[in-house]
Parts: sequence; structure tokens; C-alpha cells
Amino acid sequence: MTVSVTLPERSQTAAPVRPTAFAEKPSLLGLDREELGEALRGKGVPEKQIKMRVAQIWNWLYVRGISDFDHMANVSKDMREMLKTHFTIARPEIVEEQVSNDGTRKWLLRFPPRGAGRPVEVESVYIPEEGRGTLCISSQVGCTLTCSFCHTGTQKLVRNLTAEEILSQLLLARDRLGDFPDREIPVGTMMPSSDRKITNIVMMGMGEPLYNFEEVKKALLIATDGDGLSLSKRRVTLSTSGVVPEIYRTGDEIGVMLAISLHAVRDELRDMLVPINKKYPLKELIEACRNYPGLSNARRITFEYVMLKDVNDSLEDAKGLIQLLKGVPAKINLIPFNPWPGTNYQCSDWATIEKFADFINQAGYASPIRTPRGRDILAACGQLKSESERMRKTERLAFEAMMIANHGEDDD
Ligand code: SAH
Ligand code: SF4
Repeated sequence: MTVSVTLPERSQTAAPVRPTAFAEKPSLLGLDREELGEALRGKGVPEKQIKMRVAQIWNWLYVRGISDFDHMANVSKDMREMLKTHFTIARPEIVEEQVSNDGTRKWLLRFPPRGAGRPVEVESVYIPEEGRGTLCISSQVGCTLTCSFCHTGTQKLVRNLTAEEILSQLLLARDRLGDFPDREIPVGTMMPSSDRKITNIVMMGMGEPLYNFEEVKKALLIATDGDGLSLSKRRVTLSTSGVVPEIYRTGDEIGVMLAISLHAVRDELRDMLVPINKKYPLKELIEACRNYPGLSNARRITFEYVMLKDVNDSLEDAKGLIQLLKGVPAKINLIPFNPWPGTNYQCSDWATIEKFADFINQAGYASPIRTPRGRDILAACGQLKSESERMRKTERLAFEAMMIANHGEDDD
């Protein structure tokens, strides 16, 4: 199948696009070792070979990052033919790749239908920074929650992504950034992870990851597996609007870092901004945070707080925030609101954000303002969307003109 990559005028690609195929066969990606062994057993691989084959395939998929069975050099030809007949390890289709003028990259990816459904599209974003690079991954297409300031919240949930699809976002980004070792390097060579482009993952794309717990868990355990993709759990952050029971499970079963979309410090206001608060109010949410395993000064929970003009940006709110978080090892991340077409909210004035930040700094919390990245390609928080919601070019140009008028082209 051919891949069409639409590249808008201001975008550029880093490397030729590798041919990809829709997954007509079951994928081996996203299976844990046990499931991988089961898949091989089901195709007649002898029991005494299973452990060794699983280890080999795991290495090819997650250390070497191959997406073609023919590249499995130490696997016999017969075995490769068998794998090719029954399974796939293909990447998703890239519908569009954009590169912002600040280096941020955004991929619009298309995944095949599941069951009777239609193909779906999601976005992932790569944000390069001094000394690190962060990949923002989506967990659902749309979202069932309806946070009033979030563009994704205006879109119906289309479906949960599978572990394969969640993990594929990481594999594809590593392909496109040249972040897997060269195929020519001999099997068994240890690869240094120090100069990797993707050093961090944040589950902050589309969707509520804790409403898709099992698949997110599987994908993150593979991403942090020491014999594979090897991301440190301290460099993987899962962001949630506050699904309290699954926060406990995240701590016990996944063990990655946690970010909470707080956005308000009073239940009355949070009920409006983040409606899941009606089910799990602040007291229960903070209690779950307090009990999150492994917290210390070096390992804190991030509290995200979107700055909405005249809604949650007063000094009273800042005081309330400090009080609420007392005793919880916390980082606060102030996010300037990123507008989207049709929203009634506005971003707080810069002076107000700075005053709010100063107050928080004086209370002992460091560097809290998150610089918006990739605004020119609509890659900033809350701006990701699916195909059904994609703006046509004319709409996008009009929206970009509005953004520039509101913010100035180089205000970041
Ligand atoms: N559903 C999860 C993760 C995805 S949202 C969650 O809510 O935590 C990632 C972050 O972007 C959240 O903190 C979310 O509240 C914030 N966000 C959503 N829309 C935004 C917008 N328009 N401007 C700035 N931040 C936004
Ligand atoms: Fe869903 Fe998170 Fe957006 Fe709320 S902020 S609607 S939970 S994606």
C-alpha cells in the first residue's frame, strides 16, 4: 500500500518515508512476552524454542526497531516465512508529518479499523529541548470526558487505542528521528542510550489514559522494559484528569511518574472545568496523590494548571493551590491556555501568569510556566484532534492568522 505524506509549505521531512501497511494480520507489537510466546506456540514453534525465540524477536522489535521480518538476521528463513505468513510488525500509516519552526514535530497517524469500525487517526508530538526530547503520546481517539477548555473534550470518544497502537507511536517517532541503531551494527552490540533523541514520554496527547488502563499499562511496561526500548520509568509521565481508583493502580502496577490535570483548587470550579471532579472530588484526588508510591523530593507529582483569564488565575487561587498541595511532593506546571476554534476561554495575560508563578515560586515551587511549543502546527496541549475534526486548509490559515494577531508570532 502506498503512503501519502502531505507536507504543508512550511514543513519538511527528515528522512524518506518507509512503506507501511495496514495490519491485515495480527501484530506482534504490543504483546507482552507471555502473549508473544503464546502466538508462536499457536503456530507450531516447539516448546523448547519458545523462550529463545521470544528473546530474539523482542530484541529485534524493541532494541533494533525493525519493521520487516526479513531483517531478523539470526532467525532462520523458514521461521521468518512463517512469521510473515501469520503476523505483521508494520508501522501505522503516516498521513501527515509537520515540523514547526521551533523544531517540534507532529505526526498524524492512521490506524486500521478494529472489528466493524472505521480507520482512526491520532496525533503524536515530539518536542526537542536542551538535553532531552519528549514524545507526547495519545491513548484514545477523542475522549469521553468533557473538560470545558479542552479541544479533545469536544470530540466524542471514537475508541480506545490498543497497546500496539499506543506503542507504535513511539516506534514510529523513533524511526522518523533516526533513533534506532543502524541495521548494519552486529547483533548483540550494546547500544548507548545517552544520545537518544526521545528521552522522555508523556501520556498527554488525546484521551484519558486511565479510561484505557489495561492497554496503556501494557504499552508502558513494554516501553520501559530494560531489555527493549529501555525508557526509565522516571522519564515516563502519565497525565490524568483524576480517575482516582486507577491512580492507585498506576502506582502499584505501572510505576511511572504521575501528572494531575488540576486546573482548579475549589470543587465548585473544578466541577465545571474538569467534570470528572463530580465523581472524584479534590479531597479524594489529593489523598490518592499523597499515597502514590515512591514519592520523594526527587520524585514528585506534577500538577498541571491551565491559566484561564478571569477564571482560575487570581492570587486567591494561587494561595489555595499551595494550601491544597501541602505535604504532597509536588511540581506545578502552569500551562498558558492554548485557544482553539470555538472556545469561549482566553489565556490569562502574561503579567497575571507571572504574578501567579512568582507567588508559587516564593512558596518553594520552581520554574512553573510551560512554554507552548509547536503552536504554528497546532501541536500544543489541547490542540490535538482527529480526522473528523481536522480543519480544512482555509480554516487553518484563518485560525493561524487569529493566533498570530492574539499572541505575536514569536511570543514563545
Ligand atoms: N486526559 C489527560 C491527558 C491529556 S491532556 C488529562 O486530562 O490529563 C494533557 C494536558 O493538556 C492536560 O493537563 C489538559 O488539561 C491540558 N489541556 C487540555 N486542553 C488545553 C488547552 N486548550 N490549553 C492548554 N492546556 C490544555
Ligand atoms: Fe479528556 Fe484530558 Fe481533554 Fe479532559 S483534558 S477532555 S480528560 S483529554
